[in-house]
Amino acid sequence: NGIAAGSVVQAKTRPGRNLFSLEGQLALVTGGGTGIGLEIARCMAHAGATVVITGRREAVLRDAKNELGDAVQYLVNDVADLGSLDGLVAEIEALHGPLDILVNNAGINLKKPALEVTDEEFNRIIHTNLNSVFALTRACARRMVARRKGVILMISSMAAYYGIDRVVAYAASKSAVEGMVKVLASEFSKDNVRVNAIAPGFIETEMSRTALNNDPERRDRALRRTPMGCFGQPADIGNAAVFLASEAACYITGASLPVDGGNSIGF
Ligand code: NDP
Repeated sequence: NGIAAGSVVQAKTRPGRNLFSLEGQLALVTGGGTGIGLEIARCMAHAGATVVITGRREAVLRDAKNELGDAVQYLVNDVADLGSLDGLVAEIEALHGPLDILVNNAGINLKKPALEVTDEEFNRIIHTNLNSVFALTRACARRMVARRKGVILMISSMAAYYGIDRVVAYAASKSAVEGMVKVLASEFSKDNVRVNAIAPGFIETEMSRTALNNDPERRDRALRRTPMGCFGQPADIGNAAVFLASEAACYITGASLPVDGGNSIGF
């Protein structure tokens, strides 16, 4: 269509410009105080964006903001409180202007054999990883579609693609997010709003490091399943997020990009 063709032409005809720049853009990164979200915020700020990070723990967000500097602001918010999300987006836009980029990064996991997972536990994972992603995406997309400009990123997982034991609710939530990406990308593409997922493999964060260090057998198995022979770093996801949010990715929508050291070649 005309919008996509226009931006592609623009990208191709201005070779001197840094197409990976996020200068002047405003991004919201949920769960941006730790791990992968923190590095997405750092990489986006480094690329020139103003970044608002959210999470439930104010002290964690304050430390992250102090570490990342003036380009990063924070707001305390629980994404599982669905009724708060439209107000969150309105507050961010009142403070900082129109939101250009949403990164749905906040997520929780539960490792348990499927037969031991209770309804309450299953619903809790689905609520945080799926229902909140839809509610926040809808709040942002309404505004982005009206302005005919926006990028939405979901942080998915290899668990959406492969049968990994003991993560039944998590895998269900991430698979559903992958399905959502395709529908939203299709519905919004005429309005110049792109929607993509990043599917991280084994990324070394505080959480995964503890889990893998406590279980050396699992750690070895994970490394054997990773053709590049090492775990990824949170910044590897941050850099992929900058690319997908930037004009360099202007013709990419509805995609899920594995950032996994080759896991997805064959698990
Ligand atoms: P972390 O636990 O470090 O980060 C999760 C972040 O989400 C925290 O900052 C947490 O902050 C926030 N969060 C959790 N629940 C909520 C909530 N209800 N409302 C707002 N914020 C919330 O884990 P990772 O950095 O590893 O994970 C980030 C994303 O990457 C997740 O979606 C995860 O599924 C995905 N992922 C991670 C992989 C890995 O190997 N690490 C692999 C594949 C996917 P707070 O507790 O203060 O609210």
